[in-house]
Amino acid sequence: MAKTGNIKISSENMMPIIKKWLYSDKDIFLREIVSNASDAITKLKKLIDLGEAEEGEPFRITVTTDEKAGTLTVEDNGIGMTEEEVETYITQIAFSGAADFVEKYEKAGGEGIIGHFGLGFYSAYMVSENIEIFTKSYRKDAPAVHWQSDGESTYTVEDCEKAGRGTKVVMHLAKEEKAYLKEFEVRSLLRKYCSFMPYEIYLNPKGTEEDKPVNTTEPLYLKQPKNCTEEEYKTFYRETFSDYNEPLFWIHLNMDYPFRLKGILYFPKVKKQVELERGQVKLYCNQVYIADNIKEVIPEFLMLLNGVIDCPDIPLNVSRSFLQNDKQVQKIASHITKKVADKLLELFRKDREKYENCWKDLATFVKFGCIKDEKFYEAVKEIIIYKNLAGEYRPIESFYGAEVSEEESKEGKEPQAVYYVSDENRQATYVKMFKDAGLDAILCDTFIDPHFISYLEYRNPTRVRFLRIDADVSQSLKDEAGEDGDKEIEEIFSAALEGKGVKVKTEKLKDAAVPAVVNVAEFTRRMSEMNSFYRMGEEDTEVTLVVNTASPAVSALKEADEEKRKLTALQIYYLALLAYRQLKPEEIGEFTRNQGELLENFLKK
Ligand code: ADP
Repeated sequence: MAKTGNIKISSENMMPIIKKWLYSDKDIFLREIVSNASDAITKLKKLIDLGEAEEGEPFRITVTTDEKAGTLTVEDNGIGMTEEEVETYITQIAFSGAADFVEKYEKAGGEGIIGHFGLGFYSAYMVSENIEIFTKSYRKDAPAVHWQSDGESTYTVEDCEKAGRGTKVVMHLAKEEKAYLKEFEVRSLLRKYCSFMPYEIYLNPKGTEEDKPVNTTEPLYLKQPKNCTEEEYKTFYRETFSDYNEPLFWIHLNMDYPFRLKGILYFPKVKKQVELERGQVKLYCNQVYIADNIKEVIPEFLMLLNGVIDCPDIPLNVSRSFLQNDKQVQKIASHITKKVADKLLELFRKDREKYENCWKDLATFVKFGCIKDEKFYEAVKEIIIYKNLAGEYRPIESFYGAEVSEEESKEGKEPQAVYYVSDENRQATYVKMFKDAGLDAILCDTFIDPHFISYLEYRNPTRVRFLRIDADVSQSLKDEAGEDGDKEIEEIFSAALEGKGVKVKTEKLKDAAVPAVVNVAEFTRRMSEMNSFYRMGEEDTEVTLVVNTASPAVSALKEADEEKRKLTALQIYYLALLAYRQLKPEEIGEFTRNQGELLENFLKK
């Protein structure tokens, strides 16, 4: 006789609420049902190990789609349930579990509950109008049970015939959810959520030799690192991330205490150097996929990497804001960060050449990581490298000076200036002058460098300040023997450049071949770069023209007439400006006109 009952908790309103919240994540129902099947097998396996149940056929989970009947079925040969257990675990616990979930979700203000764990069996009602369970307990004389319910208010249980122990869940899909009857759709969901589950999962098996499970029951990350080969790591990478570029290197995380954490993080080759490329760090819990890039668990900068992380200890049935403040989760995050830093340090020390070869791909990640996480910066600061003018990589700290004490600072001593080139082509004139003068500078030409050097200054305020190579030539390239300023020359240039908003300064520079160079103060230039970055205004910085009194062309001006002085001074200015930046349209006009007049003047004589 079939027993009919009312579902005791008030569940009428639950489904609309759940559906509203999980609308875009409905897919998780399949993960929940397959996870239950997997858990049921684990339980039986334990009993067999304890000698409390008999061994049987190989463990497996079978998923079948039946378009005609409109059903999706998940079957396991696990522990099964007695009638009493069905009543307790399904009718009561599964439904009240869902009610709990709704309550928690409401408390969390509807914000994400990680992985939506806690919804369990009931989540299948997101896509089904009716669910049947056929189950037979491992207990010898327990009859098989058939349970069915629409998930709203009533259910029935009765005895039934079933060969073999285990549970079969038959989901009668709602009309609008027929997509879940398509084999390719179900396959892709199984691949996403169940790829690493511990028992073989077959989708629509034909019962032939050709049947292949959709999952890998022993993903590489579970193996001991010492037993994994390089080829295995690369294959796992390719298969998990569908990236056919080889990863640079990887970190195998494997710990059991004080928390369990397993996984592999891969450093990918960077495709474009101009932006942060998002990676993919997949979070798993006991081989069950939860989600990608969960920033509450994995430090943000690590999400530039590709990887899988399995953390059974993360409380996944809580809200995201709770996770953020969870001590255990913070420990996990900082452990991962430390492992990454250790790996980089090891590579730097043991294989400097490989480290330097990879640096192009690593630099953005490392710099971003430093800015985001002070601890990471402290761990890796000694292995941040920059290329100098000779094209050699050197640790940035080797360019710093000794600490400037407070006393010295009061006396006007400044921290060591480190010059940098942000664009080798545009700053070629300056680079050449630096090289000729035997001075060095570093190459800072990635998009993150402007932010990063500010960060380094902020971290090392008494040891370094960064100046772009064109920021202060009068300091860096001044001829020591040179006397201060030349009033007459200064006046010639000031008169010629009147109205242009350019400051004129004279200096005896080491290189006599360059008549003048443009300097833009580091601070004002950074300000204006920031403004144009935030689109607050046009780039418009305070420009100083440093006129080189060592240049014969400049000193000859003293002998020239009024007209020549003006034409030549203007010409020198534009040449210096050209070496600094592109000319604006109106400047090109004036430059060309001036050039013409100068030539005419020259040829007349
Ligand atoms: P959870 O899995 O989080 O406990 P569920 O609502 O998914 O919650 O399931 C409730 C209970 O029903 C499970 O704890 C388990 O005891 C039982 N159950 C569900 N599916 C199966 C199954 N395939 N085989 C045996 N027992 C099951």
